[in-house]
Amino acid sequence: MIQLPLSKLSKVGTTIFSQMTQLANENQAINLSQGFPDFPADPQLLNLVDHYIKKGFNQYAPMGGMMPLKEEIAKKIENSHQAVYHPDTEITITSGGTQAIFTAIATLVKDGDEVIIFEPAYDCYEPTTELFGGTVKRFKMTAPDYSIDWNEVKKLVSDKTKLIILNNPNNPAGKILNEKDLQELVSIVKGTSIFILSDEVYENIVFDGKQHLSVCKYPELKERSFLVASFGKLFHVTGWKIGYCAAPKNLTEEFRKVHQFNVFSVNTPIQLAFADYMKNEENYLHLSQFFQQKRDLMRSGLSGTSFELLDCEGTYFQAVKYDKISDKKDIDFAHELTVNHKVATVPFSYFYEDRLNENVIRLCFAKEDETLEKALENLRKL
Ligand code: GLN
Repeated sequence: MIQLPLSKLSKVGTTIFSQMTQLANENQAINLSQGFPDFPADPQLLNLVDHYIKKGFNQYAPMGGMMPLKEEIAKKIENSHQAVYHPDTEITITSGGTQAIFTAIATLVKDGDEVIIFEPAYDCYEPTTELFGGTVKRFKMTAPDYSIDWNEVKKLVSDKTKLIILNNPNNPAGKILNEKDLQELVSIVKGTSIFILSDEVYENIVFDGKQHLSVCKYPELKERSFLVASFGKLFHVTGWKIGYCAAPKNLTEEFRKVHQFNVFSVNTPIQLAFADYMKNEENYLHLSQFFQQKRDLMRSGLSGTSFELLDCEGTYFQAVKYDKISDKKDIDFAHELTVNHKVATVPFSYFYEDRLNENVIRLCFAKEDETLEKALENLRKL
């Protein structure tokens, strides 16, 4: 067998999401770990996909994506954030959010560059940065409020800082950035050549009447940002793996140089189906209300238990502290919960490079009410 001289990702194993899903399946546990809905997509969307497949749209889409879809995306961004992106030159359809993130990092990061991330951080930011020779600098947000001390973030900035990666709303903490956060970010990057990669895949899942503040609302941020979004989250179809990246023309040009040799183009009929389906804004504007009902079902089901509910302002993840139930580390507690109590969750320590354990786990509530009720029944026994 030929031995690889050196792994490019020596620290990396299978992601915690895949691990916990596998453990859930092995133990017939209710899977509240990996973030995906267990309910079907809208039949209207399925019919549109069926229609475009049968109509014979079987060949390559243009490299940047199908024009009707890019036009609908541009309209959505303008209506939601009053920001203008040219559909042809500033929006690129990708094979999901993760691929857009990978491509943006590949576009920018070179040996010796520094990239600032906020922990708890989604799992792909760090390995992708390191794959391209970058070094990650971290600001740690901690329980219970996961707020950002921007004076500390400033200290991480150096003349090597190439990129700041945001995840807003934040997976796993369920926090959203407020106006002050965004203004602090503006003051950090203004006049510098620092880029921003803003992972906003949960942008349409924000609760209690709060507003999602996208980087594209702020001209000083928009001009340097790769804005990433995901149809998987928007239309309950994570397995279709389609997302997009919106960025100013000069950034999009560079992004597409990488994209064309990695993915080239994304499947044609589904892009056309999304374009039609997006014409009715209600198909995504109802999402916050839809998931807020599920969040509240989960929160009320856990109130009165020994789990401590942390704030959940957005995403479809609820973070809970379990100190009053167990003194085990989160990974061991999550394991025990899956095997003995048949509910799979994700331990928060996996979102920190140093595996910081604050006795917090993440529960996904993108599930049928019935699934949530069953999980709650088991959790209430603890
Ligand atoms: N985004 C999903 C989550 O946070 C995981 C996707 C994956 O398994 N890589 O659970």
